[in-house]
Amino acid sequence: MDVHRLPLPPLGANCYLLQNGPQGLILDPGGAPETVLAACGDLGLAPAAILLTHGHFDHVGAVAALAERWPELPVYCHPGDVSDIPGDFTWRKVPAWKPLAEGMTLSLAGLEVTVLHTPGHSPGSCCFLTGDCLFTGDTLFRFSIGRTDLPGGDDGQMAASLKRLAALPGDYRVFPGHDAPTTLDQERARNPYLQSFPG
Ligand SMILES: [Zn+2]
Ligand SMILES: [Zn+2]
Repeated sequence: MDVHRLPLPPLGANCYLLQNGPQGLILDPGGAPETVLAACGDLGLAPAAILLTHGHFDHVGAVAALAERWPELPVYCHPGDVSDIPGDFTWRKVPAWKPLAEGMTLSLAGLEVTVLHTPGHSPGSCCFLTGDCLFTGDTLFRFSIGRTDLPGGDDGQMAASLKRLAALPGDYRVFPGHDAPTTLDQERARNPYLQSFPG
């Protein structure tokens, strides 16, 4: 599997295209549907699904346009982040919405993707594990973490979610929702928010 990172407007959230031969997944399409469509075209990637780490507008703005382009394409989001806030994820424009749940494994595009429900940044924040890759949305960043002061954020839940990530067995390549990729070992060693939870 190849991972392509596209930082997209309006706030530079990372969209990831997970490519497995001619198939793939779109993770957090940000707010630039035309950029995502062009990248899929350039890569020859036929998406099997859209996965959302959470429902905030900077990660999901392109979903409605992509759902119009590909009405059959399933869009996975945790029900905790289905919102009525304009711009955030709403199922109303996305008939193919499918709810994520803790512990489920999705078999998509020839990949097995395990869902970790990791609330704290938002009620429905999820991380995705596939192969040696961990996609952390706005839960874990390189040497930092996501905010907990937005509506639905919760410090206690964030602490539990971070502890859980720190305790995952082995190392992973970590692809966060903003800024540069990192590794779980590097975060265990250098991220102050993870260091308080020896794994
Ligand atoms: Zn967010
Ligand atoms: Zn974000």
